[in-house]
Amino acid sequence: MHHQLECPKTLHWGVGLVRPVLVLNSTYEPVNVCSTNRAIVLLLKGKAETVEAGAHLIRSERAALATPSVIRLNYYVRLPRAEGRRLSRRAILARDGFRCQYCGSTHHLTIDHIVPRSRGGLTSWDNVITCCAACNVRKGACLPSEVGMKPSRRPRPPAPGDFVLASHKVVPEAWLPYLPYAVA
Ligand SMILES: [Zn+2]
Repeated sequence: MHHQLECPKTLHWGVGLVRPVLVLNSTYEPVNVCSTNRAIVLLLKGKAETVEAGAHLIRSERAALATPSVIRLNYYVRLPRAEGRRLSRRAILARDGFRCQYCGSTHHLTIDHIVPRSRGGLTSWDNVITCCAACNVRKGACLPSEVGMKPSRRPRPPAPGDFVLASHKVVPEAWLPYLPYAVA
């Protein structure tokens, strides 16, 4: 049986309940982001549990519930394969931790095709990496090996958390432990 929840005067529906909530799979991997309102529905239906509480409290006559900041589903959601998801600049930057994959710089970031397009390189998750402007100039239309450069790790399709990072400019602190490459 579920309690009928009422919103106390201290909680502003327009602000508190549309706050984004990070949704984790049963495996603790990020799935997506939903509104507080939607998260509370999942909690009350017993489909999710709160992992990190938010700042507000919602009260009914018989129960009080902290608004969540991170929830975890009680069941496993199969996610779309990242390989098939649209390539975007921000998703590439998020995947690479917002760092140049050649020198580690966090400034003037661009996207580099490891195998240059002029030499048949594809715009695919395994051929594009984050690269600072200086490294991009140095590498030019060469292969990294031809100019003594080497990406710090092999590019991979982004993890679901990378898409969360890519779509949110400001990420709540409570989310950071669940987003592997998040930079504060
Ligand atoms: Zn660089």
